[in-house]
Amino acid sequence: MEFFRPAASQLDPVVRHLYVHVPFCPSICPYCDFHVLTRRAGLVEQYLHKLEQAAAQLARNYSVDLDTVYIGGGTPSFLRDGEIRQLAETVGRHLGWGRLENTLEINPGTVSAGRAVLWRQLGFDRASVGVQSLDDATLKFLGRTHDAQQARQAIGTLLAQDFRVSGDLMTAVPGQPLASDVESLVGLGVGHVSAYTLTIEPGTEFARRGVNVDEDAEREGFERTEQLLAAHGFTRYEVSNYALPGQESRHNLAYWNNRTYLGLGPGAAGHYPAGLARPEPKGLRPEESEESPAHVPLTLRRTNPHLHDWLVGETGETLPIDATEYVTDALFMGLRLRQGIDLADLSRRSGVNVAGHYANVIRRNVERGLLVLEADHLRATPAGWWVLNRVVTEFLEQA
Ligand code: SF4
Repeated sequence: MEFFRPAASQLDPVVRHLYVHVPFCPSICPYCDFHVLTRRAGLVEQYLHKLEQAAAQLARNYSVDLDTVYIGGGTPSFLRDGEIRQLAETVGRHLGWGRLENTLEINPGTVSAGRAVLWRQLGFDRASVGVQSLDDATLKFLGRTHDAQQARQAIGTLLAQDFRVSGDLMTAVPGQPLASDVESLVGLGVGHVSAYTLTIEPGTEFARRGVNVDEDAEREGFERTEQLLAAHGFTRYEVSNYALPGQESRHNLAYWNNRTYLGLGPGAAGHYPAGLARPEPKGLRPEESEESPAHVPLTLRRTNPHLHDWLVGETGETLPIDATEYVTDALFMGLRLRQGIDLADLSRRSGVNVAGHYANVIRRNVERGLLVLEADHLRATPAGWWVLNRVVTEFLEQA
């Protein structure tokens, strides 16, 4: 592999993005495999107390200047008013708010005019609303706790408080009227749509019941959703995400562009600059690593443990990410974006000559019509998006 030199200094040493995980939901949806639980007396109080300590620790350990904050879950909007206020004050006190975007994930059944005003006052300016469908039978099948009318009202209330609103849409749900779902959601005035295929994960209620996702419905969801949204001016800027101009999720763009971010809360993943964490687990400091530049960690990935272990101070496993893994991660995520990846920028950040090292894989997939290389920009075609895992596997094998 060719290296300019491992260039940790060319990675931004400042962390500009924060994800906070709230693990509580009103009930557990039959397709969900996230780290979530229903609330029990005392548990939210313990969670908020520990969150304060963990936020202070992150502020001590990292150089932080936030562009975006994303409070997700779980169902953060399910927190009571005093609880969400406490959470917001913890974030503001220790880490600050994002100067570009502050998102709250919202369940339609939790919205009222008064709560929308409070959320705005606390600093949130973007709402990601778990609509999933605007058809009551589909919502019932998905085990959601809200109905279509509540979703309509919730979006209207949030728009009236000047939130930038994104609606989550599930596709390939058996019996779902996809076209009317898309048209109804757009008609409500959202500027962003996240459309994900229903997937049946092992261990979920749907897996136990033997629910299947039809491949044709999956393909229809992938292709038809884009056609319907494009007719209303939405651009598919990422495989599963659509936006009107200027309405893209700046926080999620940081993930897809492989930036570093803090993960706060149980089950939260984080991606950290390797050179700044203190104290560093033995063996992970660059000076203690193997000599080859390929093995010098540029960044660290860590997923916090689930609630009960997190509450007693467990920290989860830390994975050092060397230059090679940093590049394959960046390709894996960046090829999901319509704009693709700036290979020269990725080479600067990683110290790896990306265009040179992966020349064969790139050429092969360009010839197959799955990738396009223009100047230093590499992106996937729509056909490439459909088989993205296969394309990325070739990069991994080349690494
Ligand atoms: S609301 Fe979301 S996070 Fe909560 S159980 Fe349902 S799918 Fe999972």
